[in-house]
Order: sequence, then C-alpha cells, then structure tokens
Amino acid sequence: MEIKEYIKELPMRAVKPRGDGSFTVVPQMSQGQVAARQLAAIQSVVEEYGLPGIRVTAGQRVMIDGVSADILREVVEKVGPVGDVFRHKVQSCLGTTGCRLAMQDSMGLAARMEEFLKDYSLPTKLKSSVSGCSMCCAESLIRDIGLIGRKTGWTVSFGGNGGKRVRQGDVLAQDVTEIEAFEIIGKALDFYAENAKVKERTARFAERVGVDAIKKAIFGE
Ligand code: SF4
Repeated sequence: MEIKEYIKELPMRAVKPRGDGSFTVVPQMSQGQVAARQLAAIQSVVEEYGLPGIRVTAGQRVMIDGVSADILREVVEKVGPVGDVFRHKVQSCLGTTGCRLAMQDSMGLAARMEEFLKDYSLPTKLKSSVSGCSMCCAESLIRDIGLIGRKTGWTVSFGGNGGKRVRQGDVLAQDVTEIEAFEIIGKALDFYAENAKVKERTARFAERVGVDAIKKAIFGE
C-alpha cells in the first residue's frame, strides 16, 4: 500500500507529512496524559530507530519527528495507539487532579466534553479548553469554547481565539452545572453551525453576528 493510502487508513491526525519528506507520528493522548506503557513504547522506538527525540506541543501532545518513509509503518505499529479518537480535542489544566487552587475537576470535564462534541460537524476546527479555576491556566478565554471552574459552578465562554487576531471569548453563562454548560454549548454550536460562513471560526462569527444574537439563540428573548 502507498504511504498516502496507509496514512488515510489511520485515525485522524496520526501522521503528519513534513516538508523534508519525513513524517511526524502523533501518539494518542488526552488532556496531556501519558500512561507508563505508552511512555516506554515511545522511548523504545526513539532509541531503536535513532530518532531525534520527542517534541511536546502547546496542544498537550507529544510528536515523534524525523520518521522516514521506510520505517513509518514499524514506528506506528510499535508506538501504540496514534492520532485522535475524538474529532474535537479539549485541553485542560490539572484541576482537582493535583492543583491546590482548583475549584473544579477540569480534566474530567474535558474528557466528557470530547465525548459530548464527537458528533458535531462544524464549519471549521474547534479549539476548547477547561480551566479548574479563575487563574485560567488552560487559556480558556482564548478558545472557541472555554470553561472555567468556580466554587459555585462553571463559567462558559464562546468565540475566543489566540491566533493572529486575538479575541477574548464572550461569557455566555456563569455558575452553571456541567449539564447546563453542555446544553448551552450545544445550542451555541448549533447556531454557529447553521449560520457561520465556510471555515469561519467562532471568533469571527461572534464579531459578525454579535453576542446578543448568540445569547438569544441559546436563551430566547
Ligand atoms: S487554572 Fe487553576 S486549577 Fe487549573 S492549573 Fe491553573 S491554578 Fe490550578
């Protein structure tokens, strides 16, 4: 099988071709967690094939760069699960898993949100993150969907972006439960999916239609 077809058969974002003809292999990872067995497998392929090492990304993943075409299949098979299980990845901070300032379980909510978002077909990519307190270490206010934990519940923001035109997301609700937060996010995404232009990110969409229109679609008059 040709390399291109082989890559297409793999899960989403498992292998990225590089400009120099080599490939980057992306081990499967959620909220930046790496199991001991997976860590050992990554170390083993790096050593066995004399690869340069790994690269930790801002998106809470590790990448194995410099994989040549002749060893790509072997590296993918040996490194364990690769690519993304869910269509829309959700980042998070440590939250109550280990941060003394945490007000909420950000890692748990991020994992459940990946599951919640899995069936959403959207105009373009969606970046989401969950922070366990108002310190906002997961930079939730500059994500398409942001959740921030408070003692009394979750703050939900929409339309943030940390790219070349930075935008702080609009706060849609505060002190809501997880179930309420998902309902709000679902309605915001339905409105976005129905009304956004092709490839229009939520930040540009929110600027164009205005936060009042988004809130009206969610909460009514
Ligand atoms: S956002 Fe809060 S809970 Fe999360 S890592 Fe930062 S300080 Fe800790």
